[in-house]
Amino acid sequence: MPSLRTPIIAANWKMHKTTAESKQFVTEVRDPIGNMENVTIVICPPFTAIESLSGCLSGTNLLLGAQNVHFAEEGPYTGEISPAMLTELGVRFVIVGHSERRAYFNETDATVNRKVQAALHHRLVPIVCVGEDLAEREAGQTFSIVESQIRLALGGLDASAAEQAVVAYEPIWAIGTGRSASAANANEVCRHIRQTIASLFGDTTANKIRIQYGGSVKPETIQDYLQQPDIDGALVGGASLDPQSFVGLIRAA
Ligand code: PGA
Repeated sequence: MPSLRTPIIAANWKMHKTTAESKQFVTEVRDPIGNMENVTIVICPPFTAIESLSGCLSGTNLLLGAQNVHFAEEGPYTGEISPAMLTELGVRFVIVGHSERRAYFNETDATVNRKVQAALHHRLVPIVCVGEDLAEREAGQTFSIVESQIRLALGGLDASAAEQAVVAYEPIWAIGTGRSASAANANEVCRHIRQTIASLFGDTTANKIRIQYGGSVKPETIQDYLQQPDIDGALVGGASLDPQSFVGLIRAA
């Protein structure tokens, strides 16, 4: 049975691009990308570029995402950004629990869960990142690590909320390294994630939820991933920064 899930390609720019550079990027990609309807395309710039991009993206089929969000509504959290601050600017997606945030900013499965709940409460689609590091992979723990991350990240949700989320399987050893999981192997892990979701919320939710692969995806390799039955898109860092390469990724999808 062909998948009913629309592929989703998301660009994670991390701490790259000033506002001027972000606007220039959109100017260069909007015409070549045109109005493709069979793919969801999301750009996640740094917070500082969100408001300007919100203006430039209107009239295109590029959607706005953020790279992080706080779980509180408001309060004394110096340096943090709330869900309402994002939705006010037209942000529709937010990356939650990226391995860089887990590694450098002490994000735990518990904070990831609170962020997922806060995002969904505000109708922001969380792109929930999970993935094992190299030592865990070599110890044969990949399935158990991602399963535990999924159970904790989606804990407390009901099925109708959970199916709104997007999951990104990103093996940490593949991020920004030029090494990537083979398409078949990435699919096995994504299938395990889908089975975990089925055990939590039932088959209908598991069949609806979109699961991306991320980790050194390039225009030349994205198709291999998208052809896999349990991979519904890609979360792309490095290869999403250059306009030509980004257009290549979208066209290949
Ligand atoms: P990469 O990053 O494509 O540069 O490996 C992916 C990510 O961190 O989301």
